[in-house]
Amino acid sequence: MDEKTLNKSHKFPRRARLVLFLAVGAIGLTGFYLLGRTYLGGRNTMVINYLRNPAQYSDYEVQALTRCANAPFLLPSKGFIGYLWNDSFKPFNRHQGIDIFAGTDAGKTPVYAPYDGFLTREEGWRSSIIIRIPQDPLNPSQQIWLYMTHMADPEGNSFIDSAFPPGTYDKPVFTGDLLGFQGNYSGDPVRPVGVHLHFSIVRDDGSGNYLNELDIANTLDPTPYFGFELNAKVLGKSEIPRCSP
Ligand SMILES: [Zn+2]
Repeated sequence: MDEKTLNKSHKFPRRARLVLFLAVGAIGLTGFYLLGRTYLGGRNTMVINYLRNPAQYSDYEVQALTRCANAPFLLPSKGFIGYLWNDSFKPFNRHQGIDIFAGTDAGKTPVYAPYDGFLTREEGWRSSIIIRIPQDPLNPSQQIWLYMTHMADPEGNSFIDSAFPPGTYDKPVFTGDLLGFQGNYSGDPVRPVGVHLHFSIVRDDGSGNYLNELDIANTLDPTPYFGFELNAKVLGKSEIPRCSP
């Protein structure tokens, strides 16, 4: 074999191996993606149906400022709780809070304080606030934080009440105070999210600071705080999360 032939004889199998490698990789990734989607299948359909025609699915909705049984928190906003704590949107990623979909345009559906606390809106926060609750009503020895986000339009124009401008730190708020309105801000003006409020209960680091909300391990299951099932791994995939009479 001369050098030319030798190179040729290696070239083809190497390319074939590459193609095979890419194909297997693509199939694997598609599988992971489908797994993630399949898991959410039931609830995705309900969210899409509700957003297309909220009036037809108004029985899905919870009402703002209502309390279930003797739960400590009032519901912060009106709408369909389409995604739950512990839902998976993609593999290795779990939802740290609940998403309440208004079924209205952005900037129309009010968001209220679910409990007494102290509100912070960091500099640069367009759509988010966090409320410090010094004594967790279910575990008074610990401090917890209530994080709420998506309160802006796709360009980042805020729907947060003017009482809480960026740079607000530890301002007292009381149960039922108006905080702002639901929006569809995602950080990407080209791909806004559906109008909703993301709400999560964030753990404290033990020194008076909130932990990173993006990790579900730093959040608490909101179920006992609202008095009805909000854990995606417990509620049936086609069940509507709401207070049962
Ligand atoms: Zn969310």
